Amino acid sequence: MNEKGLRIESRLAQIGSIEEPVTGAINFPIYQATAFRHPQLGKSTGFDYSRTKNPTRKVLEDASAQLESGDAGFACSSGMAALQTVFAMFSQGDHLIVSLDLYGGTYRLFERILSRFGITASYVDTNDMDALESNRRPNTKAVFIETPTNPLMMITDIEAVCLWAQRHQLLTIVDNTLMTPFFQRPLELGADIVVHSATKYLGGHNDVLAGIIVTKGKELSEEMFFLHNSIGSVLGPTDSYQLMRGMKTLALRMERHESNAIRLAEFLTTHVAVAEVFHPILKDHPGHDIQKKQCSGNTGIFSFKVTDARYVEPILRHIKLIAFAESLGGVESLMTYPAVQTHADIPLEIREAIGVDDRLLRFSVGIEHVEDLIADLGGALDAAREEIEGGQQG
Ligand SMILES: *Cc1c(COP(=O)(O)O)cnc(C)c1O
Repeated sequence: MNEKGLRIESRLAQIGSIEEPVTGAINFPIYQATAFRHPQLGKSTGFDYSRTKNPTRKVLEDASAQLESGDAGFACSSGMAALQTVFAMFSQGDHLIVSLDLYGGTYRLFERILSRFGITASYVDTNDMDALESNRRPNTKAVFIETPTNPLMMITDIEAVCLWAQRHQLLTIVDNTLMTPFFQRPLELGADIVVHSATKYLGGHNDVLAGIIVTKGKELSEEMFFLHNSIGSVLGPTDSYQLMRGMKTLALRMERHESNAIRLAEFLTTHVAVAEVFHPILKDHPGHDIQKKQCSGNTGIFSFKVTDARYVEPILRHIKLIAFAESLGGVESLMTYPAVQTHADIPLEIREAIGVDDRLLRFSVGIEHVEDLIADLGGALDAAREEIEGGQQG
């Protein structure tokens, strides 16, 4: 419940629904305008120019801030645009401590772009307090975490990192893309900034590219407003509408993503062609207890390793319902091969050190019927084994 007394499911379903004062439209309209007339000199309706503020985008931004228990929200043209806007807070000479098993695009942003502006990053297991401490430098300004990480589902104790960061006057920034505020709210655990690739679960339908930033506190919120407007990384009004439309069903979708993913992870643990399953619901997962403590549920993403790298090609050829495609978080199930797709920009040594090898497959479980998904994936695994083992005998 929040201060208005509504549970998150109700707040999601009602995004923008009671805010259109002129006609009472149930869905907040798309204000496809870049400029707004001033009533008279020195007076404004609150809207002047859409890069600074647009009515449709504002409803999305206020709802996002509220869902993440923050003070201000900022809608951006993509998740990367949101991340770039957040990192524009930092200056030449600044250093960040960053999750080891990072989203490939964020790694590329640090290594190929921010590095040119003198901003550096150390990649550490953010759940290892000794590693955090030994990587802290006089010029360290922030910790940036993804939890769970993608694809290996490494879990970080957000509260523990925030307490450590606060002691050293560092900001904690969390990429909450995989969990969404429906299952995990980092600002309530002490984080300062949350970032989303809203392209994934928030939008949920593989049809809109967007990013969200939520900040806590007046000072950070004002600074982010300045950066968002100055850089111009803003989301257009039509995409803002599309994103809100997706978010209205977030609760229903996340519940189905979660239950489907759990069933599939359990199914895979019993399959002979599968060596290892990385899902925090499994008792032997190293992040099992932390995940249970800090989240109210689990994402639909998990990964697994097959017993033989030669199975990968036929598996990806035999899946039919599950699409072989990048991205995640949509209603359709997608499977990707991180070593050659999402993680191609990460050097081989780092990739192998964290376990993204040529036997690893990442699954974004959709909202289809779980028995259909089990039949599709099970059939592909069996067919792959038959091809490889059969080929060997013959
Ligand atoms: C996809 C993704 C991003 C980048 O977002 P885009 O919307 O593709 O720009 C950042 N972080 C995570 C965890 C992601 O999955």
